[in-house]
Amino acid sequence: MAKPDGATGVDVVVQGVEKRFGLVVALDGLHLHLQAGIHLLLAGANGAGKTTLLRLIAGLASPSRGTISVDGVDPRKHHNVRRHIGLLSHQPLLYRELTARENLQFFAHLYDLPVGAVEAALQRARLGRHADRPVHGFSQGMKQRLALARATLHRPKLLLLDEPFTGLDRESSQSLTDQLVERLAEEDASSVLVTHRGSEAARLVNRVAVLRRGRVAGEHEWTPSAVEGPLMQLCQRLGAEAAS
Ligand code: ATP
Repeated sequence: MAKPDGATGVDVVVQGVEKRFGLVVALDGLHLHLQAGIHLLLAGANGAGKTTLLRLIAGLASPSRGTISVDGVDPRKHHNVRRHIGLLSHQPLLYRELTARENLQFFAHLYDLPVGAVEAALQRARLGRHADRPVHGFSQGMKQRLALARATLHRPKLLLLDEPFTGLDRESSQSLTDQLVERLAEEDASSVLVTHRGSEAARLVNRVAVLRRGRVAGEHEWTPSAVEGPLMQLCQRLGAEAAS
C-alpha cells in the first residue's frame, strides 16, 4: 500500500521500551517511529515481542521502562487518544448471543456514535443481509469482518492488527484484506500488522520492521511492486525460525 500524501494517521514514537513479565524480558529497549501514513508489518519469530508491543501502543499495558507516545501523548495517561486507535486480533471479541447489528450498536453506544454509523458499517462489511442473525451462527470469516467493522466504527487513525487472518481460509482472508484496504484508504489511517501471511501483508504494508528478542533488528521500506517477493521470503524465513 502506498503512503498517501498529506496522510492524517497518527504518529507513534516508542523510545527505549522495556517490558518484563517477572524474569521474562518481552521487550528489551525497543525503539520505533511510526509516522502518519505508514503501514508497518511487524515481523518476528514466536515470542519476539510483537503482541506485547501492540498492547503497549494500544494503551492496554504500561512499559516497565521507556516511553510510548501516540499522537504526541502517553496512551496510558490520555485516554482520549485511545479513541484514535482500533485493535483487531484473531479473537473477534464479539457477543455471541447478540446479532451483528446489536454488537455494533453496543459499541456505538460506548463511543457515543450516531446510529447511522452502524448501518453504514454493516453494509461496508457486506453483512447487511445477516444483520439480525446472532453471531454464534456466523462463519469465522463473517465474524472477523464484523470484528473489523467494530474495530473501525469510531474511525480510528491508527489500526493495530494482531494476526487477524488466523483461522481463516484463503477466500475469507482475501475478503478481510479487501475490507482492510478499503478501511485504511477511507480513514487515511496508519497501521501496524502482525501476520505470517505474506500475500495478505503484501497488499497492506509499505514498511517492515523485524523484531528479534524484544528489539527491532531491522527496518525496511517496501514499494508495492517490490513487496511480494522479498516479503514472502522474509515471512517464510521467520516461519521456519519460529518452528525450529
Ligand atoms: P507470537 O508470535 O507467538 O504471538 P509474539 O512475538 O507476539 O509471539 P509476545 O506474545 O509479545 O510475542 O511475547 C513475548 C514474550 O513475553 C514471550 O516470551 C511470552 O511468553 C512473554 N509474555 C507475553 N505476555 C506475557 C504475560 N502476560 N505473562 C508472562 N509472559 C508473557
